[in-house]
Amino acid sequence: LASGLVANYCTELHDDQAHKVDTFLHHFQLSDETLMDVSLRFRREMDKGLCRDTNPTAAVKMLPTFVRSTPDGTEQGEFLALDLGGANFRVLLVKVMADGERKVEMENQIYAIPEHLMRASGSEFFDHIADCLANFMEKMGIKDKKLPLGFTFSFPCQQTKLDESILLSWTKGFRSSGVEGKDVVSLLRKSIKKRGDFDIDIVAVINDTVGTMMTCGYDDHLCEIGLIVGTGTNACYMEQMRNLEVLDGDEGRMCVNTEWGAFGDDGALEDLRNDIDREIDAGSLNPGKQLFEKMISGMYMGELVRLILVKMAKEQLLFQGKTTSELLTTGRFNTKKNKPEGVVCAENVLRSLGLDPSVEDCIATQRVCQIVSTRAAHLCAATLAAVLRQIRDNKAAEKLRTTIAADGSVYKNHTEFSRRLHKMVGRLVPDCDVRFLQSQCGSGKGAAMVTAVAYRLAAQHAE
Ligand code: BGC
Ligand code: MG
Repeated sequence: LASGLVANYCTELHDDQAHKVDTFLHHFQLSDETLMDVSLRFRREMDKGLCRDTNPTAAVKMLPTFVRSTPDGTEQGEFLALDLGGANFRVLLVKVMADGERKVEMENQIYAIPEHLMRASGSEFFDHIADCLANFMEKMGIKDKKLPLGFTFSFPCQQTKLDESILLSWTKGFRSSGVEGKDVVSLLRKSIKKRGDFDIDIVAVINDTVGTMMTCGYDDHLCEIGLIVGTGTNACYMEQMRNLEVLDGDEGRMCVNTEWGAFGDDGALEDLRNDIDREIDAGSLNPGKQLFEKMISGMYMGELVRLILVKMAKEQLLFQGKTTSELLTTGRFNTKKNKPEGVVCAENVLRSLGLDPSVEDCIATQRVCQIVSTRAAHLCAATLAAVLRQIRDNKAAEKLRTTIAADGSVYKNHTEFSRRLHKMVGRLVPDCDVRFLQSQCGSGKGAAMVTAVAYRLAAQHAE
């Protein structure tokens, strides 16, 4: 009887707290109807980016990638790859075997990018990249070889060919000066030349979404979408050339980098953004930019939670109205340290912020995390559903069967996030049979794959 009463009490306590938070955060909860509306809005934004006349003013850029085909398994060779733009900077050496077994061997090394370099001048920044590359090549004993290199550079770039990529604007935590408006391949080549102790052949620059799609595409030929939910968020997909009006030519397909993180930068999401979203944006490195990303990705999710907790404390709804200097410090509530959504986990995080939370506080905090992460997953599902409908309409298929390659720290480490995302995609596009494939080796291997495909095609043309 006693344990029954305790259980009852716990459920009640839980429901009370959940109810309190739900009421406070009602504007964070988006109905299926609203999400469907977001999805339709995003489809219009995609059109705007694809069409020649509207592209110059479109918030969602729909950037051509010059990647025209996914791997066919006959690729071969030894390739270098750089992966820059997420939590880590990596250099890779990838060997692609030609024996039809789709075998790939990889060596890789993670290098730190010190905080000050992310804000240093462009030449210092690329000198550092060249230094890391030299260090890696020395270690691998390949400094005397001139290998082809694929560069995963995970920022919005205007490309005119596979090996030219002009940075439109930095996103996430990067802000190195004098790089926006420049071709990152030239900058990297210049830094390598300055050293003068090794040479490489930069063949391709790709976005991490493209790398993710290509990595999975090597194993699953139905794969035609790449999704990242990590420090930032974005997706790419294979589009028909005839719809890609910004480029000449109507034959075949090309991968388009949507840069959906910028959805809403023209005001298209103002009715859904709330005071906390506005606060995050105002305090960010790039105010007014990447507004959709700021509602979703790992770089902002913890901060969203922190700002909500501060607001609730100030309104006497949490911590008996008390705050601590840690709780009031930007960036202190880290999603990395907060993987499971459990109450114990909430308690640990709150204690690490110098708070002395009650059981109620912990339950409420857990609920806040749940609501923020659910909104993120559902918003992602809405845009993904729009991409799926676009592909289905392109194929004039009644039922689309397709594979989405997914990667990023939030997608991979936060099981509740991916579960909610998958479920909502199923609800928003019930007529699509979607397989989510988690990328195993990351976007760096994808850069090597793109390079390998480019080599295969170049060899075919030469024949
Ligand atoms: C960048 C995208 C990238 C995404 C995920 C965004 O901030 O603009 O290019 O794909 O982050 O890394
Ligand atoms: Mg990455």
